[in-house]
Amino acid sequence: MENAVNADLHSHSTVSDGLLTPTEITRRAAELGVELYALTDHDNLGGLAEAAAEAARLQLPFINGVEISVTWETNTLHILGLNIDPDNAVLNAGLATVRNGRTQRAQRMADDLARVGIRGALAGADKYVTNKEMVGRSHFARFLAESGVVPDMKSAFKHYLVKGKPGYVPHEWASLTDAVQWIRGAGGIAVIAHPGRYKLGANPMRRLLGEFKELGGQGLEVVTGNHTPEQVRHYAGLAKNFGLAGSRGSDYHGPGESYALPGKLPPLPEGVRAVWEMWG
Ligand code: AMP
Ligand code: MN
Ligand code: MN
Ligand code: MN
Repeated sequence: MENAVNADLHSHSTVSDGLLTPTEITRRAAELGVELYALTDHDNLGGLAEAAAEAARLQLPFINGVEISVTWETNTLHILGLNIDPDNAVLNAGLATVRNGRTQRAQRMADDLARVGIRGALAGADKYVTNKEMVGRSHFARFLAESGVVPDMKSAFKHYLVKGKPGYVPHEWASLTDAVQWIRGAGGIAVIAHPGRYKLGANPMRRLLGEFKELGGQGLEVVTGNHTPEQVRHYAGLAKNFGLAGSRGSDYHGPGESYALPGKLPPLPEGVRAVWEMWG
């Protein structure tokens, strides 16, 4: 394989905060021409067996994945684990600890929204929850959009639910060290997801990449749904400088909710080693 392969190694199903079931999203990926597909639900491996079975039926090469929520310094980061063994006990136990606390966090988010006059947010968000362990900001954003508080999900994440705005509750996720070790211990490759989203300055970004590499991290998501062409070039350069492989994924969450459809992304730039060259 080479960089031109239509790989989509980042997506979400109803097992976390996506709108399609593992079967449905795998079908959608195949229909849209994806040639190598990974499901990467947040902090959760529960959809992989179903997606893998559907991919096998469709003869779509499938990679087991996960997207782990991490607290690094004062930032929340997402680390993808690609080609992991979904039966690995340490990874499963680690993810269970990361999921723990989401329900309490949701209660506090609802309390905070109530303080600015938005009532019933917990029950409202709950209507969109498809896995009771996995209530998160997407479900609140759907509620805020649906109930007319904001025109769409994008504005929900602009005016609410983010640092400094109502509905934001700081949360302690996994450490970067633990996330990378769980992924590597399960035979996978650790990849920093959507680096352009973190609003890190040049120095903190370099510090992150250096630390990540030292911990055993191997990849950077150079191509993702919301990266501009400039960001793709920028992160391709950083991947090369830090000796990291490049990954590509839409971060698809379902119809009408994502920046890119599965497989509908620019190619991984030439000169960046593709993560998919790292497994067989
Ligand atoms: P949580 O893990 O509960 O903090 O929720 C994080 C999820 O919220 C991400 O995985 C995205 O699905 C969604 N999200 C975060 N920021 C945005 C944004 N600016 N626009 C749309 N969705 C977002
Ligand atoms: Mn999400
Ligand atoms: Mn993410
Ligand atoms: Mn994601």
